[in-house]
Amino acid sequence: MSVSNVFKIFGRRQKEAVKRLRNGAKREDLTTAFGTAAVIDASFEVQKGEIFVVMGLSGSGKSTLIRMLNGLNPTTEGSVKVFGTEVVGLPIPELRELRRDRMSMVFQHFALLPHRTVIDNVAYGLEIQGVGLSERQETARHWIERVGLAGWEDSLPGELSGGMQQRVGLARAFAAGTDILLMDEAFSALDPLIRREMQEQLVELQRELGKTIVFITHDLNEAMFLGDRIAVMRDGRIVQQGTPNDILTDPANDYVAQFVQDVD
Ligand code: ADP
Ligand code: MG
Repeated sequence: MSVSNVFKIFGRRQKEAVKRLRNGAKREDLTTAFGTAAVIDASFEVQKGEIFVVMGLSGSGKSTLIRMLNGLNPTTEGSVKVFGTEVVGLPIPELRELRRDRMSMVFQHFALLPHRTVIDNVAYGLEIQGVGLSERQETARHWIERVGLAGWEDSLPGELSGGMQQRVGLARAFAAGTDILLMDEAFSALDPLIRREMQEQLVELQRELGKTIVFITHDLNEAMFLGDRIAVMRDGRIVQQGTPNDILTDPANDYVAQFVQDVD
């Protein structure tokens, strides 16, 4: 997956903004005139089978960036390629296909279907892929067991703790069988102990299955624990990227240095 020079502005006058860009306007300068520039400039390549972490403070543009990867936030300018396909400008039916078959998302607040049982939530991705009932239930049962929720198949999400609900979210993403997982602050709402358990489980499953994961967090310790590589984002830009060790030992600027000062 490769992302190059992406720019995302929120505002109603997108077309005019793009016209100005083509005529040489600077991205920053469009912000006040046309809306909020959430991502000003980001480029990176995610290797197959790695956990790529995007870390930054709240408001730095992380969620906007991850949602550009699957077209949930249409990119104003730049290029996003997934499995060789350009996502920017992809027609909606093809975008849906990409999200359904190739990338799953795990959200901070779980986004489970409240009136569906655990098993039906886990099977949801398979259902929209058109997998038959018995096969999807079998797959869902397997994943429910893998995340430690055997016995909870017929419960509703509201009967589960936050940590358990996110295990359902994780099981759902793995059950869908997509190569790529996009995780936006997936563990940020969890208590520290549960959070660490989930991080460990994620790494275990990811290593076993060779999934490619883009993981967003504002937490440096989480980034260091999970990331094969980390991109640090600030005010809509990626200001450094490298291995956890690169970031710790050789912070590119004062901003990153300040961030890493507090690592455990
Ligand atoms: P993060 O996930 O790092 O907290 P976001 O990507 O959510 O950052 O937001 C980056 C910036 O874009 C923020 O200033 C936010 O207010 C703005 N923003 C996000 N979504 C929208 C939207 N739908 N409309 C307008 N501005 C938005
Ligand atoms: Mg966010």
